[in-house]
Amino acid sequence: MAEEQAKQIGKETEESKIEEVKESEDIEKNEPTQELGEYSIEDARKAREEEKIASWVPRTRLGKMVKNGEIKNIDAILNAGEKILEAEIIDKLVRLKTDLIAIGQSKGKFGGGKKRAWRQTQRKTAEGNVPTFACMAVVGDEGGYVGVGYGKSKETLPAKEKALRDAKINLIRITRGCGSFDCSCKNLHSIPFKVKGKCGSSEMILMPAPKGTGLVIEDECKKILGFAGIKDIYSKTFGQTRTKINLAKACFEALKKTEGQTRKGKGGRGIGKNLSSLR
Ligand SMILES: [Zn+2]
Repeated sequence: MAEEQAKQIGKETEESKIEEVKESEDIEKNEPTQELGEYSIEDARKAREEEKIASWVPRTRLGKMVKNGEIKNIDAILNAGEKILEAEIIDKLVRLKTDLIAIGQSKGKFGGGKKRAWRQTQRKTAEGNVPTFACMAVVGDEGGYVGVGYGKSKETLPAKEKALRDAKINLIRITRGCGSFDCSCKNLHSIPFKVKGKCGSSEMILMPAPKGTGLVIEDECKKILGFAGIKDIYSKTFGQTRTKINLAKACFEALKKTEGQTRKGKGGRGIGKNLSSLR
């Protein structure tokens, strides 16, 4: 008897959670198209973000330096190899675009299994099923700065916020170039050399491609490369590529290997340089 009750409660919570997910997704979809007179919702969001940065109270030494305007360039922080612990540092220094990587799948009737941004998992307890939502975010300025982050929570929106924060503090500066033998121009449309990344069993090789090739890569990884500012690439994968979390991480790991490298080997990261000398 008690078991049956527990099952029923579990079922109910499951259903309500699915509805919640659908609702939050609908809101996301409608946001950019709605307009309120002169100001669109996009403008309102920008204003809100700026207000958030203005009211930010930094807690780390680096955060205080950024807030006071002592550091005006993100390169100074990256060159010094400083660890960024506050996402607002990145918000203040770089104009970023954000997006979510579809790592989950929908539940429900009629097949289900469609791509979703949130990955829903469940823990079984005596009281019923407890769902957890995981989310993966990508941020970038389409000019060489890119970050990928992961977060999970009991609700969808906190998971998204955690993922965004993680993506921001994981920001890297990649090196773009043209390493293709079929092109050999000097524009920054591809990567300078072949790189390889791995996470779990997912392996990804990124190769320079000539101009006009486009992104020859899996759809979710296109978001990462697009935000990084790469226009042409060839890719190759090995292992379990259906695991999107690992595939996206492998792609990011590969991009990390171009960090601080140039064709002539100049301009390395120089970890350990004093931050004050680079300001
Ligand atoms: Zn080229």
